[in-house]
Amino acid sequence: MEAEYRFLQYDTVVVGSGAAAFNAADWLHDLGRRNFALLTEGVKMGTSRNTGSDKQTYYKLSIGPDGSDSVSEMARTLFSGGGVDGRIALAEAANSLRCFMKLANLGVDFPTDRYGRYVGYKTDHDPRQRGTSAGPLTSHDMTEALEASVRRKGVPILNHLMAYRICQTGGRVRGILCLDCSAAAENRLRLVAVAANHVIWCTGGPSCCYRNVVYPASQTGMTGALLDAGAKGVNLQEWQYGLASTKFRWNVSGTYQQVLPRYVSVDAQGNCREFLTDYGLSPEEAVNLVFLKGYQWPFDAAKKDASSRIDLCVYEETAVKGRKVFLDFRQNPAGLAAGFNVLSEETYRYLKNSGALLSTPIERLKKMNPLAVRLYQKHSINLETDMLEINVCAQHHNGGIQVDPNWETAVKGLYVAGEAAGTFGVRRPGGSALNSTQVGSMRAAQHIAWTSEESKPQTSGWLVPPKRLAAEAAENLGRMVGPEDTVSLVRERLQAEMSRVAAQLRDLSGIAALKRELDAYRANFQQKMGVSSIRRLPLLIKTYDMMATQSAVLDAMEQSAKLFGSHGGALVRDRDGTVLPDRSAGQNLQLITSEKGDGFFSFAKEAPPIPQEREWFETVWEEHRKYRRPKVPQNRPQNESGASKTEKGVEE
Ligand SMILES: Cc1cc2nc3c(=O)[nH]c(=O)nc-3n(C[C@H](O)[C@H](O)[C@H](O)COP(=O)(O)OP(=O)(O)OC[C@H]3O[C@@H](n4cnc5c(N)ncnc54)[C@H](O)[C@@H]3O)c2cc1C
Repeated sequence: MEAEYRFLQYDTVVVGSGAAAFNAADWLHDLGRRNFALLTEGVKMGTSRNTGSDKQTYYKLSIGPDGSDSVSEMARTLFSGGGVDGRIALAEAANSLRCFMKLANLGVDFPTDRYGRYVGYKTDHDPRQRGTSAGPLTSHDMTEALEASVRRKGVPILNHLMAYRICQTGGRVRGILCLDCSAAAENRLRLVAVAANHVIWCTGGPSCCYRNVVYPASQTGMTGALLDAGAKGVNLQEWQYGLASTKFRWNVSGTYQQVLPRYVSVDAQGNCREFLTDYGLSPEEAVNLVFLKGYQWPFDAAKKDASSRIDLCVYEETAVKGRKVFLDFRQNPAGLAAGFNVLSEETYRYLKNSGALLSTPIERLKKMNPLAVRLYQKHSINLETDMLEINVCAQHHNGGIQVDPNWETAVKGLYVAGEAAGTFGVRRPGGSALNSTQVGSMRAAQHIAWTSEESKPQTSGWLVPPKRLAAEAAENLGRMVGPEDTVSLVRERLQAEMSRVAAQLRDLSGIAALKRELDAYRANFQQKMGVSSIRRLPLLIKTYDMMATQSAVLDAMEQSAKLFGSHGGALVRDRDGTVLPDRSAGQNLQLITSEKGDGFFSFAKEAPPIPQEREWFETVWEEHRKYRRPKVPQNRPQNESGASKTEKGVEE
């Protein structure tokens, strides 16, 4: 098959265009780097730009009125999530204010009081009031502000390039291989090889693993390429799942639950009924648990007999009984038939204080959160007349690629920041994912600027020269274009199976069977997978990557089940159907996963503790002058930058 080829060279390349990627590019420029570019499969794609929640939270060191927070205390909170690297927890805490203030200075509208204080609120797993929010679209606003800053600085942005292979030799990154998605859209095969001394990979969470997700449709991730290149996974089994609407993807937390909607299921014949009472709950119990779901949103194995029972009921109705589940705001649930006096004191007080002891859920919602009603209206869903379809959905990958405190992976020069990096463990404070996107990307840019001078990457280190590598890749891809298009069907089935056996409810025999199936596909990918045109190659490549990621995630899940049983965001069922108890008490282990032969191998190790060394200003200062200054002058004028020379890269 005829293929076009392009070759680019940069000292550093940033992959992605979410909050992490734009921040990495912005910092590289501020640290004096000029020979770099940001490349992305789609500037407007990804989670940061396209998601949100009721009050999307940003977690940072508290600088609120009571002022009694500290870096050490915040690090301890992050570390207490279980399986967290203490050095990373410390870095995320130490750099959180700097990153937060940068966003505020770029115009992200975090609210202050009349004296300029950033008054915070408590989010989940947060002993202080470290949460803040710029509204329902905090991550969107961050991304737009960072993108504007990057564009003002003239950083080259290469759009519609899908990076899918990382080239490394001798444990050092050499560059990446990309598919040109614009050319593919015109049915032309065009590969772009990018030689680079450093790569900052910010491709976001691997949402492609599951069918039921609240991630935006434009986010799929590309984690398998990192594992294939020799980077290791950490805590890959740790995800966050919760109830979300599926037509318009949005978490149904907070007031959506606290107004006490009916939980209704509809079978294939269209029979519609309230179902929570089928699962051993009295109507009154059901109502009070639904209320708790409002602020205990993520599925939590420890709450399986409390608020997380609601998620389990929804799972049973959808995944096991094949029904559709809806929230109905038009009528009261059966539990309220006798009025509000069945409510727990907490629920009653909340509704009373909100002035919302009103006749129907929709009346209560309009009173307590009219924006929530309008949001769905904007997406053509009228909660006054329509039921809202929901499911238990994957929302965040707490695990990911293992990085060190500079966000460098096991492959030298290869950095991973944002959700693709595994900086969390079992639990994390709400909002800390956004903090991590900023701290990780800044640390990666700093480490590059502090430890190396910019230089043109040499291609002599490539095992196979870039042009030949691209030609071979084109040939392989070309061979998979033919009459049979199997990719969508297989992809969707695997995703559905992941949601059925390997999400918040994990079934060990299902996981083992799925893993075998994935390994068989991976071993014979070229023979088993095909697409009908070049236009479909992006999906084929994504599917290859998805299979690698799923396989690694399942391996970690199996190990985790053996070591920890049911814990965090997952309840595990043994091969005979019994639910495993939580065996993780008293341990603080990380699960590391790496490629071995054709599959993956996971093992546990003690989570590195928070560094305790006492620092002395004079020694830190000396060290700082020696090691933590950019190798090129910061803020040099644009005309010295060489940016125009490198804007299009150097063609071979
Ligand atoms: C519904 C929802 C609510 C959330 N609420 C919160 C919250 O309140 N607080 C919080 O802290 N976190 C929250 N999160 C999580 C948080 O939004 C994400 O973790 C974060 O935005 C991820 O940012 P990122 O830059 O790592 O990745 P993304 O923003 O997902 O960006 C990834 C980028 O990489 C690009 N890309 C992917 N693959 C490739 C490839 N192969 N080649 C080139 N480019 C590629 C994508 O197009 C995209 O531009 C929420 C998530 C969801 C889904």
